[in-house]
Amino acid sequence: MTKFSDLNLNPKVMKAIEEAGYETPTPIQAGAIPPALEGRDVLGIAQTGTGKTAGFVLPMITMLARGRARARMPRSLVLCPTRELAAQVAENFDTYSKYVNLTKALLIGGVSFKEQDTLIDKGVDVLIATPGRLLDHFERGKLILSDVKVMVVDEADRMLDMGFIPDIEKIFGLTPFTRQTLFFSATMAPEIERITNTFLSNPARIEVARQSSASETIEQGVVVFKPSRKDREASEKRDMLRAMIEAEGAKCTNAIIFCNRKMDVDVVAKSLKKYGYDAAPIHGDLDQSQRTRTLDGFRSGDLRFLVASDVAARGLDVPSVSHVFNFDVPSHAEDYIHRIGRTGRAGRDGKAMMICVPKDEKNLDAIEKLLQNSIPRLESPIKAPPAGDEVDAAMETDSGPKPRRARTRSRSKPVTPEPEADAPEVAAPQKAPVDTAPQTAPVDPAPQAEPVDTAPQTKPADAAPQSAQVASQTPAAPETHAESRQPERMREQSQQRDTGARDRGYQRGRGGDSKVVGMGDHLPSFIALSFDERRTG
Ligand code: AMP
Repeated sequence: MTKFSDLNLNPKVMKAIEEAGYETPTPIQAGAIPPALEGRDVLGIAQTGTGKTAGFVLPMITMLARGRARARMPRSLVLCPTRELAAQVAENFDTYSKYVNLTKALLIGGVSFKEQDTLIDKGVDVLIATPGRLLDHFERGKLILSDVKVMVVDEADRMLDMGFIPDIEKIFGLTPFTRQTLFFSATMAPEIERITNTFLSNPARIEVARQSSASETIEQGVVVFKPSRKDREASEKRDMLRAMIEAEGAKCTNAIIFCNRKMDVDVVAKSLKKYGYDAAPIHGDLDQSQRTRTLDGFRSGDLRFLVASDVAARGLDVPSVSHVFNFDVPSHAEDYIHRIGRTGRAGRDGKAMMICVPKDEKNLDAIEKLLQNSIPRLESPIKAPPAGDEVDAAMETDSGPKPRRARTRSRSKPVTPEPEADAPEVAAPQKAPVDTAPQTAPVDPAPQAEPVDTAPQTKPADAAPQSAQVASQTPAAPETHAESRQPERMREQSQQRDTGARDRGYQRGRGGDSKVVGMGDHLPSFIALSFDERRTG
């Protein structure tokens, strides 16, 4: 077995590795570090959780330990698809370069250009950036890329998903032909293959087993259930989620809860908070400082439940997550692998549980096909049929027909569904005591037919802390109607990618946010309502 001492790393880097407590290199490190140190291009096919970050950071520090950067001319460049991932790579540099004198700058959206310009002006050894922000700096004439000796593209498959490939190609073109390229992707889609064929020169190809096949440490399960009524599906799923968390008890020390849509991230986080769970949302509409605060809280153990969208959670390295809950079955099978890979990291045990309703069964099939295995069916932890929680039907504008009573009520209030959904703290009835919800009459118009709501498993929290949180949160900008109908994944991706594009007044890449043709998968609630009314009445 390869040892770190076999890898020819700088002794100062070795010291930092030792302090990090790593005993042996992971397979991607053992495979990628030697050719990287020889100056060869590397194509690493590996997912997060495999130790791939150190796979490029360690040789880079070793190589950059010699020489110095000139003003505005970084010596190396790491491109990451999301701000969080970029910040994480920067942390890795801090950890492993603590005994080497290297300068770095992190260029991500949501941070002032001025601070970043000052760093670049001084000269940096390592520039870690999201593609949009990097090009912004370049286009403002603040950055010269002709001295880049090593360029890393991290999570290229995500870049592809997020429409960043044209930006990546442009950045490749701005760096010297002689640069060394370290390129990482979890999968090799044809477009990724094309990029690597174009921009990499005779790369050493290192492929490590997909996390799905190496995930014996992750215990998986899915609860398949049919909601009592279609319009109660979302609230019954939230009941189910709480019951699953309760059933895990103390074993669930912390968890990431994934939802497919940002709106649901907000609703689920709010619902959990309402029921006394320590939860906070993270998605691309939240401002950067809030996202950073939430993540820091989760990493430090102050926050127990992180409710997340795929894009925001991409590549997050939180080493000790005991559980992942898939509130929704992801619509892209590979996302399931990424999601569950947040738990069971670095050889620890983890548990990944998912909720599946009938409309998700096709996606569940696709995941099982990809895994080449079936996910064990779990018995529902709810013995009686779930009753659904009361977190406002008003917030679920896109998730199904709205109960008629809610609509009647809303006459006194203009219906502005998306802003409400994205700023739940403002839209929710904050004054009402949090624990009134489960006892109040359901918003639903047919209470006789409905099961009586059961008491919440956990004592709901006081309203006070919730309002405190309201004050600290910046409500997201309201979305336009066109945006609200854009598939969630595209919307979030375009927002993640795109502070910069908006700043420049144009949109690079695909998935601009105003060109929406048709409605995609989303049936606006008002249409469903009128169908319902015709049918029933
Ligand atoms: P990554 O795939 O880069 O996101 O890394 C996943 C996790 O593995 C991080 O928490 C790293 O700190 C950890 N890690 C990286 N290299 C090693 C190693 N050689 N031994 C043990 N853990 C490691």
